[in-house]
Amino acid sequence: MHSNHKQPDQRIVTIDGPAGAGKSSVSREVAHRLGLDFLDTGAMYRAVAVAALSAGLDTADTDAVGELAEGLEVRFDWTTDPPRMLVDGLDVTDRLRDADTTAAVSDIACNSRVRRVLVEAQRRIGREHPNLLTEGRDQGSVVFTDAAVKFYLDATPEERARRRTRQLQDAGKEADEQQILDAIIRRDERDRSREDGPLVCPDGAIVVDTSDMTQQQVVELLTAKVQVEFAARAQAAGDTP
Ligand code: C5P
Repeated sequence: MHSNHKQPDQRIVTIDGPAGAGKSSVSREVAHRLGLDFLDTGAMYRAVAVAALSAGLDTADTDAVGELAEGLEVRFDWTTDPPRMLVDGLDVTDRLRDADTTAAVSDIACNSRVRRVLVEAQRRIGREHPNLLTEGRDQGSVVFTDAAVKFYLDATPEERARRRTRQLQDAGKEADEQQILDAIIRRDERDRSREDGPLVCPDGAIVVDTSDMTQQQVVELLTAKVQVEFAARAQAAGDTP
């Protein structure tokens, strides 16, 4: 059966949830398995943080940072795998996870002018990459409300702190689990209470609590759910006269 009927965002998958719920590694692998392009929206907020720090701005100065963001070109180089993050043509990928960037990004993510610029950029990416798996905090609730499949990945703060501690220790860094837990709780609070694009569970999202699951189990579950949903959509589109 054949039909030209196409719904917007027919093959867009969103994954939202708090920091440390295991979104990032899971998202990359699920995208890879399903042959979808992968959009790391946190990297875009981090890129603006890098630019604000390089410009010597106070990241809490909403007007100055807003003005900066409105004049920046934040884009991915999709010819590399994974895509490199470019700001005004400069490759900032290696700066995204630095401690000063991570400390600054919370201010950046609360800035409504920054959010407006990046939400628009993400929708443009969605138009250019219609087979997309996108990961963040507001992807299903704000940016791609018509997404084909939405997930909300969660885990208890204690489990997220434990994972983060282990990650740091594996990388040979010092880590205090209690301090990490406190930081996670503070960041959750900030992410959930900001006025613009707060972290919420999107309507219609499939909620997955990853606390007692391995990364591989989460990957299998999400991949299977998307495959079922895409097949049902293809069937429905085919059945539509
Ligand atoms: O996911 P990641 O840790 O890279 O996100 C960096 C920061 O960007 C976090 O503070 C998060 O709240 C914010 N963010 C956001 N909206 C998104 C993605 C990330 O506010 N869609």
